[in-house]
Amino acid sequence: MAQRRRLQVAGVVQGVGFRPFVYGLAHRHGLAGFVRNDARGVVVEVEGEPKELDLFAAALVEQAPPLARIASLETSKIETRDELEFVIETSAADGERTALVPADIATCDDCLRELFDPGDRRFRYPFVNCTNCGPRFTIVRSVPYDRANTTMASFEMCDQCRREYEDPRDRRFHAEPICCPDCGPRLSIELESAVSLLREGKIVAIKGLGGYHLACDAANEQAVARLRARKGREEKPLAVMSSSPELLVELGPDEEALLHSAERPIVLARRRPGAPVAPSVAPATEWLGVMLPYTPLHYLLCADFGGTLVMTSGNLSDEPIAFENGEAERRLGEVADAFLSHDRPIERRCEDSVVRAAFPIRRSRGYAPAALPLPVGARRPLVATGAELKSTFCVVRGDQAFLSPHLGDLDSELAYRAFGTDLELYLAMLAVEPELVACDLHPDYLSSKWARGQDLELIEVQHHHAHAAACLAENGETGTALALVLDGTGYGTDGTIWGGELLRFDLAGFERICHLDPVPLPGGEAAVHEPWRVAAAYLERAERPVPFPDWSRVRESLKVNAPLSSGAGRLFDAAAALLGVRERVSYEGQAAIELEQLAGHTEVEPYPCRSEGRRIIAADLIAAAHDDLAAGRERAEIAAAFHEGVALACAEACARAAEPRTIVLSGGCFQNLRLLASTRRRLEDLGFRVLVHRLLPPNDACISFGQAAVAAYAMD
Ligand code: ZN
Ligand code: ZN
Ligand code: FE
Repeated sequence: MAQRRRLQVAGVVQGVGFRPFVYGLAHRHGLAGFVRNDARGVVVEVEGEPKELDLFAAALVEQAPPLARIASLETSKIETRDELEFVIETSAADGERTALVPADIATCDDCLRELFDPGDRRFRYPFVNCTNCGPRFTIVRSVPYDRANTTMASFEMCDQCRREYEDPRDRRFHAEPICCPDCGPRLSIELESAVSLLREGKIVAIKGLGGYHLACDAANEQAVARLRARKGREEKPLAVMSSSPELLVELGPDEEALLHSAERPIVLARRRPGAPVAPSVAPATEWLGVMLPYTPLHYLLCADFGGTLVMTSGNLSDEPIAFENGEAERRLGEVADAFLSHDRPIERRCEDSVVRAAFPIRRSRGYAPAALPLPVGARRPLVATGAELKSTFCVVRGDQAFLSPHLGDLDSELAYRAFGTDLELYLAMLAVEPELVACDLHPDYLSSKWARGQDLELIEVQHHHAHAAACLAENGETGTALALVLDGTGYGTDGTIWGGELLRFDLAGFERICHLDPVPLPGGEAAVHEPWRVAAAYLERAERPVPFPDWSRVRESLKVNAPLSSGAGRLFDAAAALLGVRERVSYEGQAAIELEQLAGHTEVEPYPCRSEGRRIIAADLIAAAHDDLAAGRERAEIAAAFHEGVALACAEACARAAEPRTIVLSGGCFQNLRLLASTRRRLEDLGFRVLVHRLLPPNDACISFGQAAVAAYAMD
């Protein structure tokens, strides 16, 4: 006897080829009924033999398309309708709007074959895509994910495209951004002319998925130097795009997998000696950020150009990335010699993601807006506004946390306006009206000011508590733990700057158990840009002579502007300046990155470091480094002994704290692989269970997620 069942599927099931998959499956099992997208996901009704219905339901989960993520499946028995056919119905926009918008997906192999097949009607068409690949998040205006709700709505499908779109057996069945040379978007200039400009060493602004890139020949030193000068970017490494990254960097299996993943992030890997990239691409670092092409336009560019391209965000220094045609031409006009643009609008900006094998450094394009599970569900929708540098926000609905893409540094008017726009677009897309807002305790962060300006219930979360909560929640836990947060800067509950902290905490609150002994930062913010100032303050604390000629002048600032800081980032800066690695930095973390590189894998005994009460006397490490330097010891050995000394002093502090036996590691300093590995090993040797970041960056990009976890918990 025939039965009829209704299956409600939730999760990432729109824009990933789910309905044609269901259609095919229903036919194979001889079932009638329908499938359609709704605002919560996908609804299926199937009618047929109970045995076939069971097989169908099992296969629905087991054989789901590779990019689908089924979060839940509810099944109910309903009245039979004696239907004979299985059909795909068009979308119903009613119901609660909780369907998940997929992230952007790199061009698939099938589409690539067509792109380079002279016999195909989409041969060399720079916007080819299908049910399994193409733009998603960056073109979606609202859910459900249907063409009418994307920026492709204004392109009318031609007859051939419409036939493919409507044919359940076609691989473009309901591929919402479907298009072809006859009906789809067009480039603003011939690809050939962009390629010849690049060959001549010119800078071309290229419109990508989530914004513009600035591109130039990565092997041409003059071109790269000109790009840096015009963009106002002194030394921060530039990412490159290449079809053969293995020629540029050493790739282990993890790096290979990340490079080729559908997310297509920029992968940081060690540069090969003699790699054909100009010195200015990534000066003074052995790491190089590489990515594969990920849109058809990129594939055509790389194929025609032949070499490696610098592909850096289309902005001036630290401004938000440009993504609207007119705006890009206005803002990048002075930087780019030409624009390779097109007429498919970008709905929202989304910069490239950056990852290391062990953890992301920037979780953005390809990942956003995929939901991260929260171990504690929020009873009311909320938004957390994050920190200031490497800013992100986080929207929570139930136990799903939707982290925004990378927003950059929120310290300018332009960045602040972009933050407001991004947040509105995000809330509209998710159809969330927050009832509560969480923010950093800092009095002056623009993100906190925005939060305080809303007419919503407010929760302020201390910066390092948010770091700790982020790491704990990311690991799916909610209990009490220790947290070692080694970080640059965060506002403490006592009004001083924190950043070298051992906390005992849970999602409800924390206790500051131990911290680096604070030093004054001569000149405040200036000390962050000029690490030698911090080195001078540490040397005075250590009662050692200060070798920097400007000190006699700058010392005066100790009386008027010298906030106290326990930041571990500043300690690494001090050591770097003392060793002559770098006295001034042009981007956050630069001195520490170069110090880590100097230390390499050199094996040494750690420097000793005393603790007094709740303070780790980090000046001991600087004193030891100073004395060794004066005695003529190798700088690499000093850098290594310093790293080990920090790890040892922290591990000893944890051993004294003793309970609980779980410890989380967070903060930007843990992007330092030597520090992370050494600290982790020492803690595990002491019998601690160590939790680290794997899904979120250890830096301030994780703050909004941590705030969200604390706020969700507070509602319980
Ligand atoms: Zn495809
Ligand atoms: Zn067409
Ligand atoms: Fe931080």
